[in-house]
Amino acid sequence: MRIRANNPSPMTLTGTNTYVINSADDTSSVLIDPGPELAEHRDNFLAEIGDRRLTAIVLTHQHADHSEMLGSVEQWAPDVPVYAVLEKFSRLTPPVADGDRIAFGTDTTDVLEVVVTPGHTMDSISLIHDHVLYSGDTVLGEGTTIVTHPEGSLRDYLESLDRLLRLLDEGRYSSIEPAHGPSIESPAQVLEYYRSHRLERIEQVRAALAQGAASATDVCDIVYHDVDPSVRGAAEQIVRAQLNYLGALTPEDE
Ligand SMILES: [Zn+2]
Repeated sequence: MRIRANNPSPMTLTGTNTYVINSADDTSSVLIDPGPELAEHRDNFLAEIGDRRLTAIVLTHQHADHSEMLGSVEQWAPDVPVYAVLEKFSRLTPPVADGDRIAFGTDTTDVLEVVVTPGHTMDSISLIHDHVLYSGDTVLGEGTTIVTHPEGSLRDYLESLDRLLRLLDEGRYSSIEPAHGPSIESPAQVLEYYRSHRLERIEQVRAALAQGAASATDVCDIVYHDVDPSVRGAAEQIVRAQLNYLGALTPEDE
């Protein structure tokens, strides 16, 4: 069940998607990405959980539009463990790692499998349950994901896309529920597009450098000349990630 927070913006699209998944016997739930600290959003996901026991909270990555609500977790879920890669968000359980299985009910199918997918940020994870991939910001329902700098890494991001394509080929999941935007019913097409889009941008950055661009701002002016001013900051961030990937990041741009 998807509950969308009312925090729309150029970066969060229509808002952050929080997911509630219920156990096979319908008595317990797991919450993925509590989202921004908005009382109405909290009321909405708690209403969705209803009388079921909330047994686990999982964070896909550090960004505030996913994690901020954890700041008040003592008030709304004082005894519930929080599973996250970063120690500062983990609670009542050790930080998660690749291959971990997060049980949230008594049935053998009541499990979220952790797939680490670093790139958007280094602590980004995806989760597989019942042939659905919950991708956080690694794959979005519309447009493409930004690779942040310095929290992210383009090299890791490209490897994560390859890994998600392999898991898809192996039949481990067949659709994607992203943290922003609608469901993705044709993951192969979207993942291939993400990959080719990133590689194309890298070539454009290489070309801009060859033309004499000497800073992230110069490269951004050339490669992202047509972006809306509201996402210029994000474009500059991904240019820094691209320059870092190409070994061309100047100390001033770090
Ligand atoms: Zn994010």
